[in-house]
Amino acid sequence: MSRVYNFSAGPAVLPEEVLLEAQAELLDYQGCGMSVMEMSHRTKVFDSIIEGAEADLRELMNIPDDYEVLFIAGGATLQFAQVPMNLMKNRVADYIVTGQWAKKAYQEAAIYGKANKIASSEDKTFSYIPDCSDLPVSPDADYVYICENNTIYGTKYKTLPNTKGKLLVADVSSCFLSEPVDVTKYGLLFGGVQKNIGPAGMCIVIIRKDLITDDVLEGTPTIMKYKTQADAHSLYNTPNCFCIYMCGKVFKWLKKMGGLEEMKKRNEKKAALLYDYLDSSKLFKGTVRKEDRSLMNVPFIIGDAEKEAKFVKEADAAGLKSLKGHRSVGGMRASIYNAMPYEGVVKLVEFMKKFEEENL
Ligand SMILES: *Cc1c(COP(=O)(O)O)cnc(C)c1O
Repeated sequence: MSRVYNFSAGPAVLPEEVLLEAQAELLDYQGCGMSVMEMSHRTKVFDSIIEGAEADLRELMNIPDDYEVLFIAGGATLQFAQVPMNLMKNRVADYIVTGQWAKKAYQEAAIYGKANKIASSEDKTFSYIPDCSDLPVSPDADYVYICENNTIYGTKYKTLPNTKGKLLVADVSSCFLSEPVDVTKYGLLFGGVQKNIGPAGMCIVIIRKDLITDDVLEGTPTIMKYKTQADAHSLYNTPNCFCIYMCGKVFKWLKKMGGLEEMKKRNEKKAALLYDYLDSSKLFKGTVRKEDRSLMNVPFIIGDAEKEAKFVKEADAAGLKSLKGHRSVGGMRASIYNAMPYEGVVKLVEFMKKFEEENL
């Protein structure tokens, strides 16, 4: 077996320990004689898997009792529609557009009502987070929407926007569980799990219970109502059982590692190593305004397409995988999620230094 350092933005690296555990349980989950993949979701065994996962997530994030945790299929993209269908009571919502994912959510919301773009950083290729201290929040807005960590561009909100009393909705896909958060600041937060938690195809939605009602937009399909999902404890239809099981294992791993305070420390240490090098390099350059830099996704460029292609190719051959930047930005991007060990970033920086010496 040979494992690489996988810098993919998602689906992304998972803790090796978790993969080994899943491997050991693949044919016979805890004496059941079958895999979790083969198991009915209406069994006591699966009940304990999903309940355990929720309990561990609640503990990790300190989720208050007046918030519901939902495991919903369809990924983060489904939420771009599910959020307006359920929350756009006045058919008005304000969107802060800081990248492709926020833009997609904004465009989707415009199908259901009046979506206002109240701020954007598109003027500088989404390389910064706009000042959100005094935005023109619409008086009748049902919510203010953000993408908290911009996976493609490598920016992250360090302060949440002033929503002037309106509900805050956040897509946290690529910063989920990377550091502690105050859940009470949000009406709803959601994240596709394949960035920092588990396999693809599922989203975790954390929503304040009073927002879960039958008062949804006309024509909303039954399965798209948060109320349907909440009433059925995420088992309205057959869920992605194996994904929930894997997420549960990652939650346990995070608890064992010391929880989110500890993850934040580790993530800061990893990111600092890479950013410090980028700041000192004569060949590579970070693309994001310093104060808005993400701990999770680090885009960088050389500014010479040929050298960049060479870098990605040689890095790949050296076991440093998926460093090519998103097609809309070019250059390179290293995603250094929770499961990326410090050693992986050390190896990357060593490789970059060597490449710089040879190619400057
Ligand atoms: C990856 C990503 C998405 C899309 O997730 P899917 O699971 O593919 O729907 C949405 N938002 C952000 C911030 C992402 O990083």
